Amino acid sequence: MKFGGTSVEDAKAFRSVAEIVRSAVALRPVVVVSAIGGFTNVLLASVQKAIAGDARAATKSLDNDLGRHLTVARELLNGDSRVAFETTLAEARREIRQLHKIIAAHPVTHPPLQDEIVAYGEQLSSQLLALVLRENGAAARYVDACRCVKTDDNYGSAAPLPETANATRATLVPLLESAKVPVMGGFIGSTEKGVTTTLGRGGSDYSAAIIGAALDAREIQIWTDVTGVLTADPRIVPSAKTIPVLSYQEAAELAYFGAKILHPKTIQPAIDCRVPVRVCNSHSPSEEGTLIVAESEATAQTIKAIAHKSGITTVQVTSARMLGAYGFLRALFEVFDLHRTAVDVVTTSEVSVSLSIDDASALPELVPDLEQLGAVEVEENRAIISIVGEGLRTTPGIASRVFSVISHINVSMISVGASSVNLTFMVDEAAAADAIRRLHFVCFERQDMAEAGVEMLAEEALA
Ligand code: ADP
Ligand code: ASP
Ligand code: MG
Repeated sequence: MKFGGTSVEDAKAFRSVAEIVRSAVALRPVVVVSAIGGFTNVLLASVQKAIAGDARAATKSLDNDLGRHLTVARELLNGDSRVAFETTLAEARREIRQLHKIIAAHPVTHPPLQDEIVAYGEQLSSQLLALVLRENGAAARYVDACRCVKTDDNYGSAAPLPETANATRATLVPLLESAKVPVMGGFIGSTEKGVTTTLGRGGSDYSAAIIGAALDAREIQIWTDVTGVLTADPRIVPSAKTIPVLSYQEAAELAYFGAKILHPKTIQPAIDCRVPVRVCNSHSPSEEGTLIVAESEATAQTIKAIAHKSGITTVQVTSARMLGAYGFLRALFEVFDLHRTAVDVVTTSEVSVSLSIDDASALPELVPDLEQLGAVEVEENRAIISIVGEGLRTTPGIASRVFSVISHINVSMISVGASSVNLTFMVDEAAAADAIRRLHFVCFERQDMAEAGVEMLAEEALA
């Protein structure tokens, strides 16, 4: 059972989580928790303050959020456990202060120290949740996630190592066998040498999936602030609806293409061990969320959801040398390899290749190398829109339906058929929200309105 930052924002949220866990105790849960909402951002910003030379301001900037922990502890804990947590909190502040001082004295980026500081978010929330659960009568035990999740030393985006499975079982199985409820932080791990690492932003979902797979769990549950995976990002389409069942492949594609509800790496461990994933709402636990399983049925309208990702850069390389030649694509991808830049979507014609990249930080060095191969054109502020559903590749008429709805928007890099469940294209970032709303209306709302006898044109509904 993984609870995100939005499920542990304040005392009320901690109380709901305790209730949800308590009602599942007979199923022998393992609890994975994120930092309290917003704290990871604040911890990361504090590292930047320390790099700028002001260690005192860096530590002070954490006091509001450390105070939020204290408020929860004072409201939900009694006696000894409250005193114990107050001590833990004061120690954490002292340790972070030392780290801030080291960074301020040597003001360059310090990936290992940054991870060590950021990890306090999950360490504190998990210790606090374990105490709150015990206060509520559950036999909870705090477990240091670094003992279970073993990673490489790619700080900030560490990859779990195969020994994680054994380490997880060795740590958690004895607790589960003695009817304890292990409670641990998500997002964090440690190297072979015991240095703290983090798995990348939003990585607690991934932790839960790794741990669920290692234990061959009956289910991996992702508890968040919305009821399951929705037909679109609710911040853009407030009327988005819960999708009852998704296949692993559909869920993975949605996560790759920006649906923030699941970290993109979450689904793979579930696929490897065939563990179902359930996405539920901690603010409304009785609502059915989304169940993600090996296979889902194609729905009548085929399209299940729309995902999007902004802040994308596209790079187009054009060269007549490509005509009938071999080895060109290899040379092109070697440049991206050299500059450690991941490519997401690729479309090609006979003499040009377009690629999309999420992280454009290496572009100033990358472009001159690409110019050795052909003319290079870079476009920034683009957005990927991805339409996902089983049966999409084999259903006629999908593309015409999609593109006729957004015929006034300039679309590029259309990619369909590479994955059997997705159709992807690129638009200007500024046009993305409009495109998503129109697509959502036509794919999911118009039918309902027609059934309800509401005569309304898409244009009017969207105006
Ligand atoms: P948590 O703290 O629980 O990990 P996140 O903020 O990381 O929560 O993810 C949940 C959020 O993802 C939702 O509040 C919602 O705004 C956003 N989101 C984006 N796309 C979708 C989608 N297709 N379905 C559900 N939520 C989505
Ligand atoms: N707390 C981490 C973050 O904000 C991990 C997570 O929430 O999944 O990125
Ligand atoms: Mg998240």
